[in-house]
Amino acid sequence: MSMMLRMALRSCHLSPFMRLCRMSTEASKVSSRLSSLGLLRTQGLIGGKWSDAHDRKTLKVENPATGELIADIPFMGRKETTDAISAAYNAFHSWSKLTGSERSKILRKWYDLLISHKEDLGQLITLEQGKPLQEANGEVGYGAAFIEFYAEEAKRIYGDIIPPTSADRRLFVLKQPVGVVGAITPWNFPFAMITRKVGPALACGCTVVVKPSELTPLTALAAAELGLQAGIPPGVLNVVMGNAPEIGDTLLASSQVRKITFTGSTAVGKKLMAGAASTVKKVSLELGGNAPVIVFDDAELDVAVKGAVSSSSSMISFTIIAAKFRNSGQTCVCANRILVQEGIYDQFANAFAKGVEQLQVGNGFAEGVAQGPLINQAAVEKVESHIHDALSKGANVIVGGKRHSLGLTFYEPTVIGNVNTEMKISREEVFGPVAPLFRFRTEQEAIEIANNTNAGLAAYLYTTNISRLWRVSEALEYGIVSANEGLFSTEVAPFGGFKESGLGREGSKYGVDEYLEMKYLCLGNLKSA
Ligand code: ADP
Repeated sequence: MSMMLRMALRSCHLSPFMRLCRMSTEASKVSSRLSSLGLLRTQGLIGGKWSDAHDRKTLKVENPATGELIADIPFMGRKETTDAISAAYNAFHSWSKLTGSERSKILRKWYDLLISHKEDLGQLITLEQGKPLQEANGEVGYGAAFIEFYAEEAKRIYGDIIPPTSADRRLFVLKQPVGVVGAITPWNFPFAMITRKVGPALACGCTVVVKPSELTPLTALAAAELGLQAGIPPGVLNVVMGNAPEIGDTLLASSQVRKITFTGSTAVGKKLMAGAASTVKKVSLELGGNAPVIVFDDAELDVAVKGAVSSSSSMISFTIIAAKFRNSGQTCVCANRILVQEGIYDQFANAFAKGVEQLQVGNGFAEGVAQGPLINQAAVEKVESHIHDALSKGANVIVGGKRHSLGLTFYEPTVIGNVNTEMKISREEVFGPVAPLFRFRTEQEAIEIANNTNAGLAAYLYTTNISRLWRVSEALEYGIVSANEGLFSTEVAPFGGFKESGLGREGSKYGVDEYLEMKYLCLGNLKSA
C-alpha cells in the first residue's frame, strides 16, 4: 500500500477524507470489474503476446485521487523495445499489403469495440488519471472518433497523376506507408493521444510501437486488448513502457523505425527531434502551448463563460471556464492567459469568478465533480511556484489560490487578477487550475501580447465584430484559433501548432500525410502504336 493511501486511510475521521475512503471502495469495484472483463491488462504487448519485462522489474500505477495502488506493470527498456520494433517491422510487410478496405474493416471493428466499452474505458481513465468520469467518457468518445474517421480515410489514400512534359512519359505520385512508427504519448489524455496517432498510422499501412506515459499505461493496454479482439494482427500494434529515456533512445536509434510521433513537453520533444536526426526519421510533435484568450469589449458576455458550470453567471465565462479548467487545467490547449479589454474587465472578472467558485473539486467518480486532482506533486508545486511568482510581482487572488482541503494533489480552482507580462505565468504553461486575468487597451496590444511567446498551439478570441474576428484570427501566430467557442477539438479538423508548439497535424484528412511517403513514378519511353 502506498504511503499516500496509508495517510488517507489514517485520516478517515477527517471529513474531507471520508469521501476519499469511500472512493477507494468505488475504485476497487471498478478495477475488479475491469479485470473480469479482461480489460485490466498489466503487461506490455509485443508481437501479439502480453509480456513482462525480461528481468521482471515492475512499476506501480497509482490512483491520483487516493494514492492507492492500482496495478504493477512491467518496467521495460531497450531489450523489450528492440523486440517490439522487430515485431512491428516483420508485421509491416503483410499489414501494408492489405487493401485500404481490408484495413478499414479492422479499424471499424476496433472503433465499435471501443464504443461498446466506452464506460469501462472511461472508468479506467478516471481511475489512473483522475479526471471526472463524465470528462473521461467524453475522452473515449473523442478518441474513438479518430479510429472511426481513419477507418474511413483508409479507403481514400489517393495518389496523383501529373501531366507529363513529354509525350512518351507518364508521371505518377504514389503514397506509401512510411514504415514502423514509434508513438510516445502523455498522461493527460491516456486514450485520445494514442488513437490520434495509431488511427492514421494503421490506416496508411504502418505498424506501431506505442509508449504510453508510465503514469497512465492501463488505458493504452485496454485499448490494445480491444484492438487484438478487433483482429489487428500480431505485431501491428505493440505497447511498451518503463524506462522512458531508454525506450525513446532505442526507438530513435533504430533504422527500422521510420517515424516518431510524440505528444508531450517541449523539452522532451526537442530531444526527440534532435535524436531523430541520426537516422533522418520523419517527426511529428505536439508540444506545449501558452494559449491566450482575448476577450474584447464587444464580446457577448453570454457566450464567453459557458461550458463547465450549469448556472447563471455569464455565458462568456462558461466557455472560458471550460477552456481553462477542463482536465484540471492540464491540457496543452488550456487557456493560459486571459486577456480582457479594459471596458469589460470588471464585469467579466466578476462573472468569471462566480462561475469558477461553483466548480466542485473531488474524486472523479463522485457525482457533480468538475475538477479532479492534479497528476502528481510536481504538478502542484509548479502551480504553487507560478502563483507565488505572480503574487510577488503584484497580482491578486480573486478565487482559490491554495491547495484544496482534500489534500493529496487537489488544488482549488483559482483566478488571479492584475497579471502582467513580467510574470512567469505569462511565459510558461501553468498546466493547472489557475486562470490569470490580464487587462489590455487596444486590439494591437492584445495581438502583440498574445504572439509574444515561443508557443503557438491554440488561441481563443471573443468578439461580436466580424471584421475584427477575421483580422485578429489572421494575425494570431497559432495553429488553432477558436472564436467565441471554448471547446474546438474534433477528429475532422487539423490539430497542431506553430513555432515551438510542434510539427505536423493530427486529425482530419491532413493527419494521414504524417504517415505517408510520396513516391514519384516516371514511366518513360512509351511507344506509340
Ligand atoms: P509531461 O511533462 O506532460 O509528462 P513529458 O514530455 O515528460 O511530458 O512526457 C510525455 C511522454 O514522453 C511520456 O510518455 C514520457 O514517459 C515520455 N518521455 C519522457 N522523457 C522521455 C525521453 N527522454 N525519451 C522518450 N520519451 C520520454
